[in-house]
Amino acid sequence: MDPTPAPAPLPHPLVRLPAEWRDALVRLGERPFRAQQVFQWIHRRDVVDAADMTDLPAPLRLKLRDEGLAPVLETELVRRSSDGTRKLLVRFPDGATVETVLIPAVSGPGALGRVTGDAGQELDADAASVDDLDEPEAEADPGATVATTRVTQCISTQVGCAMGCVFCASGVAGLKRHLGPEEIVGQVLLGRSLLDEGEQLRNVVLMGMGEPLHNYEATARALKLLILPDGINLSSRRVTVSTSGLVPEIDRLGRDFAGQVTLAISLHATTDAQRSALMPINKKHPLAELMAALRRYPLPKRRRITIEYTLVAGQNDAHEDAKRLVGLLRGIPVKVNLIPMNPIQTSTLEPPRGPRVLEFQRVLLDAGYSCFIRRRRGDDVDAACGQLALLGAKPRPKIPFAKE
Ligand code: SAH
Ligand code: SF4
Repeated sequence: MDPTPAPAPLPHPLVRLPAEWRDALVRLGERPFRAQQVFQWIHRRDVVDAADMTDLPAPLRLKLRDEGLAPVLETELVRRSSDGTRKLLVRFPDGATVETVLIPAVSGPGALGRVTGDAGQELDADAASVDDLDEPEAEADPGATVATTRVTQCISTQVGCAMGCVFCASGVAGLKRHLGPEEIVGQVLLGRSLLDEGEQLRNVVLMGMGEPLHNYEATARALKLLILPDGINLSSRRVTVSTSGLVPEIDRLGRDFAGQVTLAISLHATTDAQRSALMPINKKHPLAELMAALRRYPLPKRRRITIEYTLVAGQNDAHEDAKRLVGLLRGIPVKVNLIPMNPIQTSTLEPPRGPRVLEFQRVLLDAGYSCFIRRRRGDDVDAACGQLALLGAKPRPKIPFAKE
């Protein structure tokens, strides 16, 4: 007779699905109904230390500890920007650090600027809430007595990045390592536990350090947990994966999530020569291949792909570039976010001047595209796009992971 096959190894306790918890608990000689309890402590109540799961019997809490249920990261440093943005430097047990950023909506529900087509309008859009712009403004709870501030969290998926885009601080030191799914989800659990009174986590954008689709398996599991109704329960359209353009993984993401999570593409250029100079990934997956992937992405009705276009003075900001961009995007449901490049220490590249940015936007608006200029958020604490570096900061007193 064949020996009984060894049971499949279970994922890290922080990222087990309820069914996986049932298996784990049955193996530990526990009753299956405990699975939902444990899962909810973690994903709904932000408690990751088994010792704090007060309605579980003490012996089970010990078993959960032995299973490895414990915080996977700690806060090394919090820097608060004058605009309310908080940048957290988090540290993993091996000493690796990444950054995650909490970005409150500008001033309460429905306050995000909407570009009306007037190119002279002061720049706002959606530093944070890439997706918020589509939200009906009346969604705020009419019975609520205290206004809720919607918060977008930007999370990292790798320590460093292998893609080497020349304008980006995250890529400067190369890839140190991938994050595990528990380290990705752990940032969200931590972020949620640190929200201020009246704040609510509404959007998560995978736009921190790293290329999410280069770490596909971990990213996909994290996404699954972020949108699980029994768990963190973010709306899938409010979870945005931003990629520099890994074509096979874009296809895979589309298949695995039926196009439900929002896709953001870092396009940044309109010819292969230009794009390859800014983003080496373009040599592997040139523009035509990338655009074909966008055309076949299984986008649900009334949804759009976000096109990110970082404007770099003298590189990709000419009138001709804007015209070519219009041509490239023709027929694809998109909205375009223009990001005037945030300066980084290791590069002399710089953003265009304001009028040039507006001129670029005008071309897209005139062609009928939604086109927003991303307002800088948190750049006084180096928390703006592309400024998340490996170079952390001096250690400060530790802040405990779980809510006190
Ligand atoms: N690796 C992914 C997600 C992280 S970067 C990606 O590249 O899409 C998030 C966004 O910030 C990307 O659009 C990226 O191109 C942009 N970005 C990087 N460096 C920047 C900088 N210095 N100024 C403005 N945007 C930048
Ligand atoms: Fe990596 Fe994105 Fe930065 Fe490029 S822009 S180096 S893909 S994090």
